[in-house]
Amino acid sequence: MNFYLNGIEFFTFHNLEPLLLEFYNNYEGTTLQFSPDKREERPPVKGRVCRFCKQSFPKVRFKKWAHIIPELLGNKNLVSFDECDECNSIFSKYEVQLARFMGLDRTLFQTNAKKGVPKFNTVENGFTANVTDDLGLTNIVELVDNSGEHFKINQDTGNTEIRYQKASYIPIKVYKAMLKIAINLLPKNELIHYHSVIKMILTDKFDNILAQCAVVRKYSFDEHFNVHAYLFKNRGNRGLPSHIFQLVFENTSFQFFIPFSDLDLHLYNGIPMTPIFCPPIFFGAKPNSERWFVENVYLQGQEHYIEECFLGLELQADTIKDIHGIDPQTGKTSDTPFLQTKIKRIIISNQDFNININNSGNE
Ligand SMILES: [Zn+2]
Repeated sequence: MNFYLNGIEFFTFHNLEPLLLEFYNNYEGTTLQFSPDKREERPPVKGRVCRFCKQSFPKVRFKKWAHIIPELLGNKNLVSFDECDECNSIFSKYEVQLARFMGLDRTLFQTNAKKGVPKFNTVENGFTANVTDDLGLTNIVELVDNSGEHFKINQDTGNTEIRYQKASYIPIKVYKAMLKIAINLLPKNELIHYHSVIKMILTDKFDNILAQCAVVRKYSFDEHFNVHAYLFKNRGNRGLPSHIFQLVFENTSFQFFIPFSDLDLHLYNGIPMTPIFCPPIFFGAKPNSERWFVENVYLQGQEHYIEECFLGLELQADTIKDIHGIDPQTGKTSDTPFLQTKIKRIIISNQDFNININNSGNE
């Protein structure tokens, strides 16, 4: 069986093919949105109607550039012309929460956001991450542990664990930031079925109701992608919701059904819904690695939440055992034993390199 979206063949992991087949039998891809190299030219403002508040120019303004996928995820050029400035400023509050929810990822993957690659900083627990040039290398990710509690290296296996806390975020706002992208992807003729959820997304008043649907299926894998998003439409199975949305950012995809379509009201009957989801898809060729992980992310919370995270780095055990100290001042090897509890800084580079120790600090 071959699978296609917008005429392009796609693949999934070998052991998820049955799941993809089930999904594909029930849903077809309708929209696929990537960030193009260039922005579309702005159409005249006259006659523009906001897809969210339904107001038109000149009652509402369309001066700001509205992004279909937030710029904070690295989308520079995929823009929309039917989001008014007022709605845009409501959504930017949700996007602040989405950025916090992403934690270290945007720094680690060097996402080119509005003001360049963001720094990650949780001063209160002494952990920072940023992208910099050092040791003769450019664009390295520098992780700094000022408290001695964030890095753990297993010297036998080489596995390194980095523990940190994300800045606090409000889960339901993160969900609304993602739901807004899904609504952006809906074709104009479908918007009429989603008038109630569009109303709910614009205010906090209905967060309790939205929270009932705020569960996101998250897949993680080894491959990395520029940010993009899909929309799938139900082929006619009345037991399943009308649209499934998927957002792909780097090595993760986030997926959920768009709630409260007026065509789906029979599904809201008090019995928990069991939607089906699309496994990660790869265009043109099979993925290089068969490694994947799936989890549900619960975004119902309406209060600030602090998430504890850990990041695993795999190093070769032999490398860890064969470590020599170098005096940064002289560049000479020293006999100082390697003490993992003393590690202050980890740098990650994707360059094949020899480090130039002379311009480093004194760690
Ligand atoms: Zn509006």
